[in-house]
Amino acid sequence: MATDGPLCPKRKFLDFLGGRGLRLTAQRRVIVDVVFSTDQHFTAEQLLDWSRRRDRSVSRATVYRTLPLLTASGLVREMDFGKDCKVYDPNYASHPNHSHIICQDCEKIVEFESEKIARLENEISLQLGFSVAGQRLQIMGSCEALKKEGTCKNRGGLER
Ligand SMILES: [Zn+2]
Ligand SMILES: [Zn+2]
Repeated sequence: MATDGPLCPKRKFLDFLGGRGLRLTAQRRVIVDVVFSTDQHFTAEQLLDWSRRRDRSVSRATVYRTLPLLTASGLVREMDFGKDCKVYDPNYASHPNHSHIICQDCEKIVEFESEKIARLENEISLQLGFSVAGQRLQIMGSCEALKKEGTCKNRGGLER
């Protein structure tokens, strides 16, 4: 994935901010750098933690104010697991058609892309007189550890 140039997600986000007349403050720059340098899914608190590792002055308020801008830009997607805590996905800009399989115990998230699913979506949409604009597929399951040991050691890896 390109890390620079007009098509890189970070560049697009900076353009989005500029278009809204918003300034890129030093704190916000750190947050944006963190978001677009990871391919992991994260919670707001994790983003705060990662950002503070780079710059201790990053405030919780700035993180919480920047997240809605990131989702409004379409470059980061908010994922709904039906839990109280939101998880954010930074990979939508580069992989808009990926789906997720999630462990129901440790909440480990694995991404996958499937041509078959894409074909099926098109087929179903066509039959029903629609065209596909987007998709959100989440499979809940049991990871290796949960299957073997009945519990996951990594449980709680995501803050709730
Ligand atoms: Zn994802
Ligand atoms: Zn698990």
